[in-house]
Amino acid sequence: MSERSTGIVIIGSGFAGLGMAVQLKRNGFDDFVILEKSEALGGTWHDNTYPGCACDVPSHMYSFSFELNPRWSRMFAPQPEIRAYLERTADKYRVREHIRFGTAVEGMEYDEERRVWQLALAGGAVLTARAVVSGVGALHIPSFPDLPGIERFQGTAFHSAEWDHSYDFTGKRVAVIGTGASAIQFVPKLAERVEHLALFQRTPPWVQPKPDRAIAPPVRKVLEKVPGAPRAVRNLIYWTLEARAVGFTIDPRLSGPQERLARWHLRRQIPDPELRAKVTPDYTIGCKRVLLSNDYYPALTRPNVEVETGGVAEVRENSIVTRDGREYEVDAIVYGTGFKVVDAMADWRVVGRGGLKIQEAWADGVQAHHGTTIPGFPNFFMMLGPNTGLGHNSVVFMIETQIQHVLSLLRLLQERGAETVEPRPEAMRAYNERLHRRLRRAVWNEGGCDSWYLDANGVNRTLWPGHTFEFWAGSRNARPEDYVLT
Ligand code: NAP
Repeated sequence: MSERSTGIVIIGSGFAGLGMAVQLKRNGFDDFVILEKSEALGGTWHDNTYPGCACDVPSHMYSFSFELNPRWSRMFAPQPEIRAYLERTADKYRVREHIRFGTAVEGMEYDEERRVWQLALAGGAVLTARAVVSGVGALHIPSFPDLPGIERFQGTAFHSAEWDHSYDFTGKRVAVIGTGASAIQFVPKLAERVEHLALFQRTPPWVQPKPDRAIAPPVRKVLEKVPGAPRAVRNLIYWTLEARAVGFTIDPRLSGPQERLARWHLRRQIPDPELRAKVTPDYTIGCKRVLLSNDYYPALTRPNVEVETGGVAEVRENSIVTRDGREYEVDAIVYGTGFKVVDAMADWRVVGRGGLKIQEAWADGVQAHHGTTIPGFPNFFMMLGPNTGLGHNSVVFMIETQIQHVLSLLRLLQERGAETVEPRPEAMRAYNERLHRRLRRAVWNEGGCDSWYLDANGVNRTLWPGHTFEFWAGSRNARPEDYVLT
């Protein structure tokens, strides 16, 4: 077992890890490494390569504020372009040389005597660090449904985040399980190629038109040449998205116009009343992520596509049987069934001060101070930690706010000549009480749906309850009185 030492370890090289790395560098903290389990950078934008994969937040907003890109080819850029943007950013700010690829962190434990974190890496090596920033995000461990007989299936089966590009879907009979943000992007692409597509829907999503269009080269030229133009476009998108979210952030009763838009879209794109009834949600819009698509509903109207709502009773060697006894012979199953979110955090092997396991710290539910720090876990900072997710705007904005928060804590350590920082339990409790008081009345709890936003007790552990500028105002600078410095 070899042991090496470094200042700060960043886990993951997606938007969170790269953003943190760039800002560390710009602020004079050069002694850091990024540990990336894959062989390439990009995080979720490296893993997800399914056909049709694209951003569902406008790209001028879904990008770093310090690295605006006037050359986005579309309003909602496709995955390869977003990945290329992250690659370019890593090169421009010279953070690639800090990345160790193919290095998975299996667990980490705080050494109280030496005031360092010991990170156990896959393969047996140990890395010692003064501070750890987790940039692993919430959406990287595929979740497979617990369907009886799933292991018996003899055909090809994979998850949308692990797309098998060697499999030729042409002329095949395919089952897709799930109708979430990923599935609605790849279903239209698959439908064009397969002989038959059976789409297993458990809960229909609310779908609105996607205001997507190519950005014409002359417009891109203007954005490149006119100083301030990309910033102005970004600001316009930011405030439009915030304005549309009043139903989520203030009161679900304000969501009427959003629901009417979705119903209009549905009526316009699905003329058949029977199919329309099948895919009409029965819960308040916003309770689950509102999806944007112009080609999802048209794909469902194709003669080779069937929407199955009967529920899966069993998977057999070459078929799927529904609860009402229908059997679909299939060559392949694609799982668009999302990611392990709350459980994934609870599975972490992170041990803090005094042998405190993160699961013990979270016995009453997953929580953190400003979604970033936890009492008992000195110098451990989480990007997109508990209650920092969004349904209405770009999470890159939340990540950048958290980066400012972490930088303010690192500066505090320097100013006070201290070695470690962790939040006071009472400060974290007060922060979370306020947050959860607000969440109790929100659409994610009141909207009549179940979602991965909620934990086993029905408590929302994933989303920020308000406008993103509220998070920015309250969290970008840490309040020194909330922390214990050692
Ligand atoms: P998801 O939104 O969690 O959707 C999973 C789908 O699988 C849901 O329709 C769910 O049904 C269904 N499902 C899960 N378990 C099932 C079971 N046992 N039996 C039947 N159906 C089952 O996952 P996702 O589509 O991968 O998206 C996850 C998140 O990734 C999104 O919310 C979004 O934040 C992000 N994302 C973003 C983009 C983007 O463009 N930026 C694209 C894709 C994903 P129920 O609704 O009934 O649970």
